Amino acid sequence: MHRSHEYLVKFALESGAVDGAIIHAIVGALKAGDIPGETRVKCYEALINNWFPKQNIALAVYPMEMRYGGPREALLHAVFRQNFGCKYLIVGRDHAGVGSYYGPFDAQTIFDELWPDALELTPMKINWTFYCYKCESMASLMTCPHGKEDRVIVSGTQFRRAMQEGAELPKEFGRSEVLAILEEYYQTAEKVEIKKHAYEDLTPEMLKKIQEGKK
Ligand SMILES: [Zn+2]
Repeated sequence: MHRSHEYLVKFALESGAVDGAIIHAIVGALKAGDIPGETRVKCYEALINNWFPKQNIALAVYPMEMRYGGPREALLHAVFRQNFGCKYLIVGRDHAGVGSYYGPFDAQTIFDELWPDALELTPMKINWTFYCYKCESMASLMTCPHGKEDRVIVSGTQFRRAMQEGAELPKEFGRSEVLAILEEYYQTAEKVEIKKHAYEDLTPEMLKKIQEGKK
């Protein structure tokens, strides 16, 4: 869970729409190279203990396998989070995606195809988020006018590569408590081949075109 994930949860808490957030971790089987549930839960705990007021956040686990079903899996997640009593589900970029199989915002736009009142839960769609050195804060394409070179954008793939090869990551990417847990995990984790993610070099202009194409 890096700074972008933290920001999504904090955005939800700041929005005034909710009085608390639940990190509902899916801890079933994953594809090779993904971080196992046990390690992710340790990261969530480190984040909650150091960076959230405890009365506003809860952590729960759900023992389901990840299907990497992208948009359809986002709908599935919405149904069972609704059954857990959630009013909103944060849907960020490439929810439950795999490689570049889905478009980066397919999991957001699929909710627009549902009939009215199909869900009691509302998707909280949040644009691509990152730390921006010029804004000196977390931001998204909705709020930051600066360029790619001003932003800390580390894809999951780049991140895994850095962890496996021992490269240093910018502190704006992840909290030190979380990165320490992940570094420890990767020291013993089996190395897997990392394939380049098609969105790694995505520019804001390319992203805009993709988003406009979806409308
Ligand atoms: Zn900026």
